[in-house]
Amino acid sequence: MMGSRGVLSIIFDLDNTLIDTAGAGRTAIQKVCELLKSTHVQESHIRDICERFLRKLLQESFDPSEGKTIDDVRIQHWCEALQETPGTDPDPALASRCYYTWKNTRLQALSLSSEVRALLEELQKNYKLLLLTNGDTQTQREKIEAVRCEGLFSLVVVGGDHPEQKPARSIFTHCFESAGVRPQDCIMVGDSLTTDIQGGVNAGVRATVWINAGSKSLPQDSVTPDYTLPTVLHLKEVLAQLA
Ligand SMILES: [Mg+2]
Repeated sequence: MMGSRGVLSIIFDLDNTLIDTAGAGRTAIQKVCELLKSTHVQESHIRDICERFLRKLLQESFDPSEGKTIDDVRIQHWCEALQETPGTDPDPALASRCYYTWKNTRLQALSLSSEVRALLEELQKNYKLLLLTNGDTQTQREKIEAVRCEGLFSLVVVGGDHPEQKPARSIFTHCFESAGVRPQDCIMVGDSLTTDIQGGVNAGVRATVWINAGSKSLPQDSVTPDYTLPTVLHLKEVLAQLA
Protein backbone atom coordinates (compact mmCIF):
# COMPACT_ATOMS: atom_id res chain seq x y z
CA MET A 1 0.00 0.00 0.00
CA MET A 2 1.33 3.45 -0.86
CA GLY A 3 2.55 5.53 2.02
CA SER A 4 2.11 2.87 4.67
CA ARG A 5 4.75 0.53 5.91
CA GLY A 6 3.92 -3.04 6.62
CA VAL A 7 3.29 -4.57 9.99
CA LEU A 8 6.49 -5.00 12.01
CA SER A 9 5.18 -6.34 15.24
CA ILE A 10 2.33 -8.52 16.51
CA ILE A 11 1.00 -8.19 20.04
CA PHE A 12 -0.69 -11.35 21.28
CA ASP A 13 -3.01 -11.93 24.17
CA LEU A 14 -2.38 -15.28 25.91
CA ASP A 15 -5.54 -16.79 27.44
CA ASN A 16 -8.06 -18.14 24.93
CA THR A 17 -6.03 -16.59 22.12
CA LEU A 18 -2.88 -18.72 22.06
CA ILE A 19 -3.89 -21.30 24.65
CA ASP A 20 -7.24 -22.85 25.55
CA THR A 21 -7.50 -21.58 29.12
CA ALA A 22 -11.27 -22.05 29.22
CA GLY A 23 -10.94 -25.70 28.18
CA ALA A 24 -8.20 -26.32 30.75
CA GLY A 25 -10.43 -24.69 33.37
CA ARG A 26 -13.27 -27.10 32.56
CA THR A 27 -10.90 -30.07 32.89
CA ALA A 28 -9.72 -28.70 36.24
CA ILE A 29 -13.26 -28.28 37.61
CA GLN A 30 -14.07 -31.83 36.50
CA LYS A 31 -11.12 -33.04 38.56
CA VAL A 32 -12.30 -31.12 41.64
CA CYS A 33 -15.77 -32.66 41.22
CA GLU A 34 -14.15 -36.10 41.34
CA LEU A 35 -12.19 -35.12 44.45
CA LEU A 36 -15.33 -33.84 46.19
CA LYS A 37 -17.21 -37.03 45.32
CA SER A 38 -14.62 -38.94 47.38
CA THR A 39 -15.34 -36.80 50.48
CA HIS A 40 -18.21 -36.27 52.92
CA VAL A 41 -19.64 -33.51 50.71
CA GLN A 42 -23.13 -34.34 49.44
CA GLU A 43 -23.00 -35.18 45.78
CA SER A 44 -25.98 -32.94 45.00
CA HIS A 45 -24.00 -29.92 46.24
CA ILE A 46 -20.84 -30.44 44.25
CA ARG A 47 -21.89 -28.58 41.08
CA ASP A 48 -23.05 -25.64 43.19
CA ILE A 49 -19.77 -25.46 45.12
CA CYS A 50 -17.78 -25.39 41.88
CA GLU A 51 -20.05 -22.73 40.37
CA ARG A 52 -19.62 -20.58 43.48
CA PHE A 53 -15.85 -20.90 43.17
CA LEU A 54 -15.97 -19.89 39.50
CA ARG A 55 -18.12 -16.84 40.29
CA LYS A 56 -15.65 -15.76 42.98
CA LEU A 57 -12.79 -16.25 40.55
CA LEU A 58 -14.53 -14.06 38.00
CA GLN A 59 -15.26 -11.31 40.53
CA GLU A 60 -11.87 -11.55 42.19
CA SER A 61 -9.87 -8.44 42.90
CA PHE A 62 -6.30 -9.13 43.89
CA ASP A 63 -4.04 -6.63 45.56
CA PRO A 64 -0.56 -8.04 46.24
CA SER A 65 0.16 -5.14 48.60
CA GLU A 66 -2.26 -6.71 51.10
CA GLY A 67 0.39 -9.33 51.82
CA LYS A 68 -1.59 -12.35 50.58
CA THR A 69 -0.59 -14.49 47.64
CA ILE A 70 -2.99 -15.35 44.85
CA ASP A 71 -2.93 -18.91 46.21
CA ASP A 72 -4.20 -17.64 49.61
CA VAL A 73 -6.97 -15.67 47.94
CA ARG A 74 -8.12 -18.61 45.80
CA ILE A 75 -7.99 -21.13 48.66
CA GLN A 76 -10.30 -18.66 50.41
CA HIS A 77 -12.69 -18.80 47.42
CA TRP A 78 -12.99 -22.58 47.86
CA CYS A 79 -13.35 -22.16 51.63
CA GLU A 80 -16.27 -19.77 51.14
CA ALA A 81 -17.80 -21.86 48.38
CA LEU A 82 -17.85 -24.86 50.73
CA GLN A 83 -19.09 -22.77 53.64
CA GLU A 84 -21.93 -21.13 51.71
CA THR A 85 -23.34 -24.52 50.73
CA PRO A 86 -25.97 -25.65 53.21
CA GLY A 87 -24.99 -28.72 55.19
CA THR A 88 -21.32 -28.47 54.26
CA ASP A 89 -18.87 -27.87 57.11
CA PRO A 90 -16.17 -25.27 56.68
CA ASP A 91 -13.06 -27.32 56.04
CA PRO A 92 -9.84 -25.38 55.32
CA ALA A 93 -7.88 -28.55 54.54
CA LEU A 94 -10.46 -29.59 51.94
CA ALA A 95 -10.50 -26.06 50.49
CA SER A 96 -6.76 -26.26 50.05
CA ARG A 97 -7.00 -29.68 48.35
CA CYS A 98 -9.70 -28.35 46.01
CA TYR A 99 -7.56 -25.37 45.14
CA TYR A 100 -4.36 -27.26 44.37
CA THR A 101 -6.26 -29.92 42.43
CA TRP A 102 -7.85 -27.14 40.36
CA LYS A 103 -4.64 -25.17 39.92
CA ASN A 104 -2.34 -28.09 39.08
CA THR A 105 -4.83 -29.75 36.75
CA ARG A 106 -5.37 -26.49 34.91
CA LEU A 107 -1.64 -25.87 34.50
CA GLN A 108 -1.07 -29.44 33.29
CA ALA A 109 -3.93 -29.15 30.81
CA LEU A 110 -2.61 -25.93 29.32
CA SER A 111 -0.43 -26.18 26.28
CA LEU A 112 0.56 -24.36 23.17
CA SER A 113 -0.67 -26.65 20.39
CA SER A 114 1.98 -27.75 17.91
CA GLU A 115 0.12 -25.78 15.21
CA VAL A 116 0.17 -22.55 17.21
CA ARG A 117 3.81 -23.09 18.17
CA ALA A 118 4.74 -23.65 14.51
CA LEU A 119 2.86 -20.49 13.50
CA LEU A 120 4.66 -18.39 16.12
CA GLU A 121 8.03 -19.86 15.14
CA GLU A 122 7.36 -18.90 11.55
CA LEU A 123 6.07 -15.40 12.37
CA GLN A 124 9.02 -14.84 14.68
CA LYS A 125 11.30 -14.82 11.63
CA ASN A 126 9.59 -11.76 10.13
CA TYR A 127 7.88 -9.98 12.98
CA LYS A 128 8.68 -8.88 16.49
CA LEU A 129 6.27 -10.88 18.62
CA LEU A 130 5.04 -9.44 21.90
CA LEU A 131 2.97 -11.16 24.57
CA LEU A 132 0.67 -8.88 26.55
CA THR A 133 -1.46 -10.63 29.13
CA ASN A 134 -3.69 -9.28 31.88
CA GLY A 135 -3.84 -10.88 35.29
CA ASP A 136 -1.74 -11.22 38.37
CA THR A 137 1.95 -11.84 37.96
CA GLN A 138 2.25 -15.25 39.64
CA THR A 139 -0.74 -16.81 37.85
CA GLN A 140 0.31 -15.59 34.42
CA ARG A 141 4.00 -16.44 34.89
CA GLU A 142 3.04 -19.97 35.93
CA LYS A 143 0.98 -20.35 32.74
CA ILE A 144 3.76 -18.95 30.55
CA GLU A 145 6.19 -21.39 32.16
CA ALA A 146 3.76 -24.31 31.84
CA VAL A 147 3.34 -23.79 28.08
CA ARG A 148 7.04 -22.94 27.55
CA CYS A 149 6.39 -20.05 25.20
CA GLU A 150 8.63 -17.30 26.56
CA GLY A 151 11.35 -17.88 23.94
CA LEU A 152 8.90 -17.13 21.12
CA PHE A 153 8.48 -13.51 22.16
CA SER A 154 10.77 -10.49 22.10
CA LEU A 155 8.88 -9.16 25.07
CA VAL A 156 6.49 -10.59 27.65
CA VAL A 157 4.39 -8.09 29.60
CA VAL A 158 2.11 -9.19 32.45
CA GLY A 159 -0.57 -6.71 33.49
CA GLY A 160 -0.11 -7.38 37.19
CA ASP A 161 3.41 -5.92 37.02
CA HIS A 162 2.06 -2.56 35.88
CA PRO A 163 -0.13 0.18 37.33
CA GLU A 164 -2.78 -0.36 34.65
CA GLN A 165 -3.77 -3.39 32.56
CA LYS A 166 -5.39 -3.71 29.14
CA PRO A 167 -7.30 -1.78 27.76
CA ALA A 168 -5.35 1.11 29.32
CA ARG A 169 -3.14 2.97 26.91
CA SER A 170 -0.25 3.07 29.39
CA ILE A 171 0.50 -0.65 29.25
CA PHE A 172 0.52 -0.57 25.44
CA THR A 173 2.85 2.44 25.52
CA HIS A 174 5.13 0.41 27.78
CA CYS A 175 5.13 -2.38 25.17
CA PHE A 176 5.87 -0.03 22.27
CA GLU A 177 8.71 1.68 24.11
CA SER A 178 10.25 -1.54 25.42
CA ALA A 179 10.08 -3.20 22.01
CA GLY A 180 11.16 -0.11 20.09
CA VAL A 181 8.11 -0.07 17.82
CA ARG A 182 5.38 2.46 17.04
CA PRO A 183 1.66 1.80 17.47
CA GLN A 184 1.13 1.97 13.71
CA ASP A 185 3.73 -0.79 13.24
CA CYS A 186 1.71 -3.21 15.37
CA ILE A 187 -1.39 -5.30 15.23
CA MET A 188 -3.19 -6.51 18.36
CA VAL A 189 -4.56 -10.06 18.43
CA GLY A 190 -6.88 -11.23 21.19
CA ASP A 191 -10.18 -12.85 22.18
CA SER A 192 -11.48 -10.07 24.42
CA LEU A 193 -13.32 -7.14 22.86
CA THR A 194 -13.20 -5.10 26.07
CA THR A 195 -9.50 -5.54 26.85
CA ASP A 196 -7.60 -6.64 23.71
CA ILE A 197 -9.55 -4.96 20.94
CA GLN A 198 -10.54 -1.85 22.90
CA GLY A 199 -6.95 -1.62 24.15
CA GLY A 200 -5.56 -1.87 20.64
CA VAL A 201 -7.94 0.85 19.48
CA ASN A 202 -7.05 3.08 22.45
CA ALA A 203 -3.37 2.61 21.71
CA GLY A 204 -3.74 3.39 17.99
CA VAL A 205 -2.41 0.14 16.57
CA ARG A 206 -2.46 -0.49 12.83
CA ALA A 207 -5.20 -3.11 13.12
CA THR A 208 -7.02 -5.23 15.66
CA VAL A 209 -7.76 -8.92 15.20
CA TRP A 210 -10.53 -10.50 17.25
CA ILE A 211 -10.21 -14.23 17.88
CA ASN A 212 -13.81 -15.34 18.05
CA ALA A 213 -13.62 -19.09 18.57
CA GLY A 214 -17.30 -19.45 19.47
CA SER A 215 -18.61 -17.46 16.47
CA LYS A 216 -20.27 -15.06 18.91
CA SER A 217 -22.03 -12.09 17.38
CA LEU A 218 -20.63 -8.67 18.12
CA PRO A 219 -22.49 -7.04 21.03
CA GLN A 220 -24.29 -3.83 20.02
CA ASP A 221 -22.26 -1.48 22.21
CA SER A 222 -18.97 -3.14 21.36
CA VAL A 223 -15.86 -1.73 19.79
CA THR A 224 -15.50 -3.03 16.22
CA PRO A 225 -12.43 -5.12 15.44
CA ASP A 226 -10.78 -4.63 12.05
CA TYR A 227 -10.61 -8.39 11.50
CA THR A 228 -12.35 -11.38 13.05
CA LEU A 229 -10.89 -14.88 12.89
CA PRO A 230 -12.18 -18.19 14.27
CA THR A 231 -8.65 -19.07 15.39
CA VAL A 232 -5.24 -17.50 15.53
CA LEU A 233 -4.12 -20.12 12.98
CA HIS A 234 -5.66 -17.93 10.23
CA LEU A 235 -3.55 -14.92 11.13
CA LYS A 236 -1.40 -15.06 8.01
CA GLU A 237 -4.48 -14.21 5.91
CA VAL A 238 -4.75 -10.91 7.79
CA LEU A 239 -1.02 -10.22 7.52
CA ALA A 240 -1.21 -10.81 3.76
CA GLN A 241 -3.98 -8.21 3.49
CA LEU A 242 -1.99 -5.69 5.50
CA ALA A 243 1.27 -6.21 3.62
MG1 LIG B 1 -7.75 -13.69 26.45
